[in-house]
Amino acid sequence: MGSTRSSQGAYSKSEAQPYLEKLKLLRSRMLGDTNYLADSALKRTRSEAAGDLSKMPIHMADIGSDNYEQEFSLNLLAAEQVTLAEIDSALARIESGEYGACVECGQRIKKSRLNAIPFTHYCIDCASERDQESRG
Ligand SMILES: [Zn+2]
Repeated sequence: MGSTRSSQGAYSKSEAQPYLEKLKLLRSRMLGDTNYLADSALKRTRSEAAGDLSKMPIHMADIGSDNYEQEFSLNLLAAEQVTLAEIDSALARIESGEYGACVECGQRIKKSRLNAIPFTHYCIDCASERDQESRG
């Protein structure tokens, strides 16, 4: 009981401060993007669902590319929401003093890695292992 092994590699709150700023900036930027994507994807659905045939595209090719574009926006939106959840979780980990420790092995995540992906929860070794697992 007592010491939590999983947070041995964690950064202190003051060490994590620059990443806190980055995460907050990233979060607000992504929220803006997400609203924009959701808006443009849903607007299109709404006008199609309204059944206003006079506004429907005539050529099949147009319909195809329209659907593709909508699907693309929604996929992008889903990916952004996953990232947003990771950002929120990273912010919570800074708050609880666990930030910077790999959730898999507890090792300290290198600053160069956090600079590139401030919301990552895995060190480079665990991340590449997980990558291989999901691929195989
Ligand atoms: Zn690890």
